[in-house]
Amino acid sequence: MKMMHSSRLPPQGPETAKGARMTMKSERAILQDLNPEQREAAQYFDGPLLILAGAGSGKTRVLTYRIALLTGPEGVDPGRILAITFTNKAAEEMKGRIHRLVGPRAGAIWISTFHSACSRILRQEAERLGYRRGFVIYDDDDQLRMVNRIIRDMDLDTKRYPPRLVRSLIENAKNEMVDADTYRKRIRDDLTEVVAGVYKNYQEQLFRNNAMDFDDLLLNTIAVLELFPMVLEHYQERFSYINVDEYQDTNPAQYRLVKLLSERHRNLCVVGDDDQGIYSWRGADLRNILEFEKDYPDAKVVRLERNYRSTRVILEAANHVVSLIAGRKEKRLWTEREEGEQIRYFFANSGNDETAFVALEINQLMESGGYGHRDFAVFYRTNAQSRPFEEMLLRFGIPYKIVGGFKFYERKEVKDALAYLKFLLNRDDAVGLRRIINEPKRGIGEVTLAHADAFARSQGIGMWEALQRAEEVPNLGPSACRKLAGFVELVEGLSSEIEKLPLPDLLQVVLERSGYLDALAREGTFEAEGRAENLQELKNAMVEFNSSNPGEGLEAFLERVSLVAEIDLYDEEEGAVTLMTLHNAKGLEYPVVFIVGMEDGVFPHLRCMGSTESMEEERRLFYVGVTRARDLLYLSGAAYRSQYGNLKMSPESRFMRDIPRQYLQVIKADEPAVVGERKEGVRQGELDVLAASFSVGERVIHDKWGEGTITALSRSRSGPEVTINFPGLGEKLLLLEYAPIKKAGGA
Ligand code: ATP
Ligand code: MG
Repeated sequence: MKMMHSSRLPPQGPETAKGARMTMKSERAILQDLNPEQREAAQYFDGPLLILAGAGSGKTRVLTYRIALLTGPEGVDPGRILAITFTNKAAEEMKGRIHRLVGPRAGAIWISTFHSACSRILRQEAERLGYRRGFVIYDDDDQLRMVNRIIRDMDLDTKRYPPRLVRSLIENAKNEMVDADTYRKRIRDDLTEVVAGVYKNYQEQLFRNNAMDFDDLLLNTIAVLELFPMVLEHYQERFSYINVDEYQDTNPAQYRLVKLLSERHRNLCVVGDDDQGIYSWRGADLRNILEFEKDYPDAKVVRLERNYRSTRVILEAANHVVSLIAGRKEKRLWTEREEGEQIRYFFANSGNDETAFVALEINQLMESGGYGHRDFAVFYRTNAQSRPFEEMLLRFGIPYKIVGGFKFYERKEVKDALAYLKFLLNRDDAVGLRRIINEPKRGIGEVTLAHADAFARSQGIGMWEALQRAEEVPNLGPSACRKLAGFVELVEGLSSEIEKLPLPDLLQVVLERSGYLDALAREGTFEAEGRAENLQELKNAMVEFNSSNPGEGLEAFLERVSLVAEIDLYDEEEGAVTLMTLHNAKGLEYPVVFIVGMEDGVFPHLRCMGSTESMEEERRLFYVGVTRARDLLYLSGAAYRSQYGNLKMSPESRFMRDIPRQYLQVIKADEPAVVGERKEGVRQGELDVLAASFSVGERVIHDKWGEGTITALSRSRSGPEVTINFPGLGEKLLLLEYAPIKKAGGA
């Protein structure tokens, strides 16, 4: 494969002030690095300024250069500038760049995320709200523990009101600046009534503990500014120049904060792209950017149309994707970069073929020279998709890192599940025991465990034996005894299945009987859904293990997993391939990008296919993904994936239809590598007869998906196909040969 990347820009890795060469730039030199529109924006210091422009047009660069110019020799005091980025990583990068442009003066500029800026302000001001010196910040886990305790203290059932769900409802309320009292007025049902109670309690306890959660950082900053005019004035003076990147993804609280701080001087520069709004599910509101001109009628608006990032092919494809979104502000990006290579599209027969393809392409590009591992990124829709790629990359010896998430075998639910399995084999594993004994919650608390532990010590026995003899443990009430006995019974029951069941089934039984899956289902949050997906993915890992290691059992599987989990091929020099979700990819760029799992139901995600709004957000997410690529873009998917031992068939992602054919180089898949079990006795001729008996518009019943309507009949090399629209699931393309369907109504 011939590569063409003469115009590659240096990799945009994290640059810190320390490592950077000190080449302070003169104002003239800085301006030379910008095109006329960018220059105009970078030099517009006074009054509201909106830079609304597409991906890769240099928005972040303008913001960075603008700050450098502001602080120039005759410029403003750097201490009066505030810059807000979306992630800490982005803040670090911006700091490094500005440092290189202006030198040590950059140190006084506040460049951070909303959360860090607020926590810095509150370190000074929180006492005014009644907090004591040195408040602490509660992270997700602390929050959850607290919510959990409150629910139980209120004598409510944590099964009926899952703590994670309650927490996420509280978070949503906070994002929209709805406080506990206001929330109470909006009670709609049983659940919101409980949430209102927990919310109030939760805030009181946080306050008593001199603690804030992440949302409080924003809300308390707003509160202190609104309640104390002197404080407001102080910070308005202090931050006379405010700059916000990725403004399209601000939520109402962030919007309010920006508004307050900038009210006095009105030197507010916001930068963003409404086509890249992908966080509405977390409370972000596109209106913040779309209505900026309404908020500030005198705002200067700058549009940037030249893209510097991507080849023409990639850019044209992206333009096309985004043009399909209704009611957007029309923008059209152009580039002077070369046409570049076509987007490579590979729709594999199996998931395994897809991962192998990605690894092989990376190796080939590395060999052809010019690329390092750090130049590659693999983006997927949901975290669970990382697992097969992680394993394939390890098999190829390709170092990788996961940004904004954990590696598959480091994820909590995966570790929990493995801890159960390990414990079934080894009852002396006290650490594992601690991990699983109250996970999911079964009311076995610290106190019970402390009693059991003391008993174990006094008898010179292990913890497990102490649990088996719970009746003898001093100070244990009957209820605690019962719970321990229940747990012992669970473990023993599960152990007796080890020999009987194949690995994936064993895991399923563990997850079911332990109540783990139920607990996730009850939570019903996006996060819980992701955790459940990861557990299903663990089952897939077992299926794969079984087929490549016939005859091996649980022990061998666990051993292999612990090896995988420990390998770390990371090499500073070469860097590593980056794996991340599409959501995390915002603002970044890579020479070579793979977007994997291009299948309907995966991307776009099944959950989002039901409404126009969420489909639009999915399409914006696709746009974000495509526009991360500089030189080469790969799209890939797989027709069949093994899912818990069965084969799942998916049609190609409908997003593939959004990319004009001339930009695609379709890489042919070989004959099906994996196929399902053939229907007994069905031969090709009979299949054709069967196919002919169906017609478009006819209703059929699928074993798993229920009733649907045939929307198309087609034929591929593998035989006759049928496309069926299932209500709520969308369209599925199935090979007639394997499709478990029959005619509805028994006709
Ligand atoms: P996104 O919407 O993805 O956040 P962006 O609009 O913030 O993109 P940048 O990341 O600032 O775009 O710029 C994209 C790339 O183009 C970067 O590598 C940047 O250095 C480069 N670039 C931007 N403007 C210029 C310019 N005038 N000359 C040369 N390179 C430029
Ligand atoms: Mg940017």
